[in-house]
Amino acid sequence: MKPAVFSWSSFPVFSMKFDILTLFPEMVRSVLDTSIIGRAQNAGYIHITCHQIRDYSKDKHRKTDDTPYGGGTGLVMTPQPLADCLDAVLSTISPEEKKLVVYLSPKGRQFSQGMVEELCQYDRLVLLCGHYEGIDQRILDEYVDEEISIGDYVLTGGELPACIVVDAMSRQIDGVLASEESYMDESITGGLLEYPHYTHPALFHGREVPPVLLSGNHANIDKWRLEQSLALTQARRPDLYEAYMRAHPPAPQKKKRTKTSTPTAE
Ligand code: SAM
Repeated sequence: MKPAVFSWSSFPVFSMKFDILTLFPEMVRSVLDTSIIGRAQNAGYIHITCHQIRDYSKDKHRKTDDTPYGGGTGLVMTPQPLADCLDAVLSTISPEEKKLVVYLSPKGRQFSQGMVEELCQYDRLVLLCGHYEGIDQRILDEYVDEEISIGDYVLTGGELPACIVVDAMSRQIDGVLASEESYMDESITGGLLEYPHYTHPALFHGREVPPVLLSGNHANIDKWRLEQSLALTQARRPDLYEAYMRAHPPAPQKKKRTKTSTPTAE
């Protein structure tokens, strides 16, 4: 029997929907059902459905992997369960919905805040998680629009990368965070690394909170925070600092009025 495919039709149209295709849905759920992203799901701002690829295997032992043609170590995820799972998920997406099928892979385009904003233009993101040596190339050729890497290192599976993509994107959705400032001030988002934070108590292990933060003078606090952000970014991320300074050139200094001296005759 074909596994039942979840239908989105009961949800409001304008919200971010993620379909995650994986052999380890419990791994994804344990991450994404927690904290802010868990609450965002309960409040209906985002909708995440995990699809167990193994449920689509036609193999009598429900196998989803096999040895690679040409030899070599490791196992490759076989195309049949992946194609059937993808077909089932894609059949639930209406033509009006803007969708993107993503394969998480160390060979992909490197994930960044810029890419988060790009991806937020889609209504529906289908995230395919590989495991073992990866997936059969024919699935990439036939179904995948974009390969995304979360960094230059190799993980055991695409589940954690998929969670990272969903988390970073969900923060951009109206209502998920308490206020717009919550993310506009964050490192990278505003173009700089964020200033240091302090909370109670004012004295801890002999270390004081910078007095300006206790002053109640918000103009001075904002100035201090910007200076801290600039200094930190310049020290740790000169690439970001230079880009920020190019986009925000310092205002030209007003020339001081000087007494005009009477020209003397030669
Ligand atoms: N043999 C593959 C290669 O060399 O490109 C690596 C396979 S990796 C062990 C297993 C799965 O983890 C991949 O199919 C992919 O889905 C996921 N993965 C591993 N590292 C990743 C990364 N940096 N970014 C995104 N996904 C990654």
